Amino acid sequence: MYKGIEASRGIGIGSICLIVERDLSFESKHIDDTEAEKARFNAAIEKFKAETAEMAENIRKNIGPKEAEIMEGHLAMIADPTMAGEMNKMIDAGQCAEAAVTAVCDMFIGMFSKMEDDMMRQRASDISDIKISLLKILLGVEDVDISKVAPGTVLVAHDLTPSMTSQIVKENVVGIITEVGGKTSHSAILARALEIPAVLSVPGITEIVKDKDTAIVDGTEGDVYINPDGEVVSKYVIKREEFIRAQAELKNFFGKETVTADGNKVELFCNIGTPKDAKKAIECDGEGIGLFRSEFLFMDKPHLPTEDEQFEAYKEAVETMGGRTVIIRTLDIGGDKDIPYLGLEKEENPFLGYRAVRYCLANTDIYKTQLRGIIRASAFGKVKIMVPLVTCVDEVRAVKALVEECKNELKSEGVSFDDKIEVGCMVETAAASLIADMLAKEADFFSIGTNDLTQYTMSVDRGNANVAYLYSAFQPAVLRSIKNIIAAGNAAGIPVGMCGEAAADPLMIPLLMSFGLDEYSVNPVLVLTARSIISKWTKAEADALAEKVLSLSTEKEIVAALKEAAK
Ligand code: PEP
Ligand code: MG
Repeated sequence: MYKGIEASRGIGIGSICLIVERDLSFESKHIDDTEAEKARFNAAIEKFKAETAEMAENIRKNIGPKEAEIMEGHLAMIADPTMAGEMNKMIDAGQCAEAAVTAVCDMFIGMFSKMEDDMMRQRASDISDIKISLLKILLGVEDVDISKVAPGTVLVAHDLTPSMTSQIVKENVVGIITEVGGKTSHSAILARALEIPAVLSVPGITEIVKDKDTAIVDGTEGDVYINPDGEVVSKYVIKREEFIRAQAELKNFFGKETVTADGNKVELFCNIGTPKDAKKAIECDGEGIGLFRSEFLFMDKPHLPTEDEQFEAYKEAVETMGGRTVIIRTLDIGGDKDIPYLGLEKEENPFLGYRAVRYCLANTDIYKTQLRGIIRASAFGKVKIMVPLVTCVDEVRAVKALVEECKNELKSEGVSFDDKIEVGCMVETAAASLIADMLAKEADFFSIGTNDLTQYTMSVDRGNANVAYLYSAFQPAVLRSIKNIIAAGNAAGIPVGMCGEAAADPLMIPLLMSFGLDEYSVNPVLVLTARSIISKWTKAEADALAEKVLSLSTEKEIVAALKEAAK
């Protein structure tokens, strides 16, 4: 068995088609007629643009508009005068077109691949794709035609460029294995969009296999088998059937309401990090946004975003959601989220320090800019404001006073907004949980942040591997806390949601049902799974399970009992 990165879920069993890299070596020679060489180079660029535009169109038709953006990105990069300009300059200096393309692309690849940011590193891979395509055109090398592979094929390649992937006929390719690429690489994105199981970054796989070998691709676990024995094949045939059945069952939940087995309706929202993610929430059938982490607006730039920049971003998400609720969490920085230009001091205990609402209330200019942006966006849909890291009533009162101040300002400026905009609080600290009854009198809604609630209840740093064994929302202390928060919200008549990861945990869901949670906010890809789990339990069954679980005193026993019940 070979291990790689699980990039697209599912099981594929088939016969290998090994894609051998074409030889793109060339002899670098000095050019005297630089004008003729530039004409050859520019003709290659034009051909590249035409081919890329055609591929973008193919992808748009066969896969989707979002995936076509990859090829459109290539077009934009080559249209940028810097890259082609540098190449032309090198040809003017007597280099051949192949050498100019290689030198300039390699320079950009080197620059982008050193960057911290995933998106920037992805640029390096885009430029590598452009380089290969241009060299193929200049050297007259024909691309491998993947569109002709036989049904039941597992593609094995060093790397699958988007241009190769765009030719894939979904019905014929049952699996993909490559030697490079990660979960966010373009081949991974395209494989997921095509629903083809894929395992990437399997070291040396192109040397290990040959054409027509049998391969099993387990894209859920990241496992690859080459020429497995009959027993392994039988095991994976069953696994494949189970996967297909489960997927088909999940699809039945698309477009349905989220209801328990005994007909109680709850809300199933999504957690997002950028306005573009709102589209994903809609595609995945989310019923609203339960947590819009607004930090990205502040982390994406080298300076504070202006009120207008923020307003536009919030408005985009709100308009995408078309009247469904969008809960925007105000700036939650500090702790593990640093924003360099704010110049925050290094602290001994950053998770217990000057962060989130504490920072915002001490920097009301920054906070009011954000609140005004959010309030203005409320004119375009159903917006709610959510305050992170609340520990006492004073904080909620202070935020509400600032919200009123902003509303009055906007009113006098003649700007429209939803005058009834709600202000709720995240309940994610031990303090907030203990005074949930008091907070419920101040807040319009609660959302339980179990990621932090677990950290602060268990006194365990959520990022420290040495104490990770204690970091579990199934610890009796955390479960009691969750139950208490929901009960306080229910008693006060305000809606209670949960936006921590626990809201999507199939083992946690029946407990949350029993405690009376009104709204579950999950990663968009987990919407249908959560809806399916919720549909399987009645309140009476969930209550019986919760009663049993709350009588157990260790996390191990609790998880074991929940697993048993989930069977
Ligand atoms: C949480 O703490 O549960 C939460 C949803 O917020 P974050 O993970 O952004 O801290
Ligand atoms: Mg949190």
